[in-house]
Amino acid sequence: MPFSRPIAIITHPHCLAHDTGGGEHPETPDRLTALLARLETLPIKDRLSFLEPRKAERCWLTTFHDEHYLFRLEESALSGKTYLDHRDNQLCFESYEAALLSAGAGLTGIDLLEGEENLVFCAVRPPGHHAESNLALGFCFLNNCVLAARYWQQQYGRRRILILDFDAHHGNGIQSAFEEDPEVFYLSLHEHPTFSFPGSGYAEEMGTGPGRGATLNIPLPPRADDQMVLNALVKRVEPALAAFAPERIIVAAGFDGHRDDDMSGLAYSTELYGKFGEYLAVWAEQFCQGKLLSILEGGYHLESLAAGAAAYLTALSNYSTEE
Ligand SMILES: [Zn+2]
Repeated sequence: MPFSRPIAIITHPHCLAHDTGGGEHPETPDRLTALLARLETLPIKDRLSFLEPRKAERCWLTTFHDEHYLFRLEESALSGKTYLDHRDNQLCFESYEAALLSAGAGLTGIDLLEGEENLVFCAVRPPGHHAESNLALGFCFLNNCVLAARYWQQQYGRRRILILDFDAHHGNGIQSAFEEDPEVFYLSLHEHPTFSFPGSGYAEEMGTGPGRGATLNIPLPPRADDQMVLNALVKRVEPALAAFAPERIIVAAGFDGHRDDDMSGLAYSTELYGKFGEYLAVWAEQFCQGKLLSILEGGYHLESLAAGAAAYLTALSNYSTEE
């Protein structure tokens, strides 16, 4: 019998109420619906528990976002505006609360991880990794991963946090938050910025000042496949992890690198997300007493998003330390 580990899935119905205007917008409530429906069909489904997050409190939002931006976000949503900063960032009346719950999912997840839980997956939207301290960008409003890292440090005294981002796009907001910070290592695999949104994430961007060396960007050419990623995991990611020795790991889990997802030119298979799960389970065990927080980022082709998340969670759950 394969040993199957429990995973806490944090999600909230209100995440579906964040309406991006329908029509052509790719960041739709259907993404979350498809993902959650798939989880119901998995062989590991009995090991999944579903919990609701709290809303992120103001004092945690301001560990990254500036007050004026937060006011602008709240005011835009509640006053009936249809977008913030750029037409990509569509919002509605419910979006502010959905963003607070998405950000809060990471915090709720960390509370669980500092207790009995080992594996937490936040199935939330809006996503976060493009959000800057004072700017909404790329469908993102609050930077869920950045806020989670700050919470882990300030609430629980965990110092060395690794954020591993396997979304197809560079998480510019995460990088800018921690560029000068040697205690949060940002590691991203993404399509090369010459070809891809948001245009940052060159290999030369390695952090600045005291944070120099605590940012690792691994840009991949269009049509990069599983083998290129697996090589990078062994040759680049593993040594960086061993050198940094994180106390805790946060995964920015985006599934838009799949070959069927036209939001990127990457050509990952569904199985690659299972490989990410296997590696991360090993690293969590090696460095973090098995604790791992994953937060949903992109993934716009509904079938590959659902299948990728299923493969990732199945691999995390089936990982065993016993031979
Ligand atoms: Zn993306």
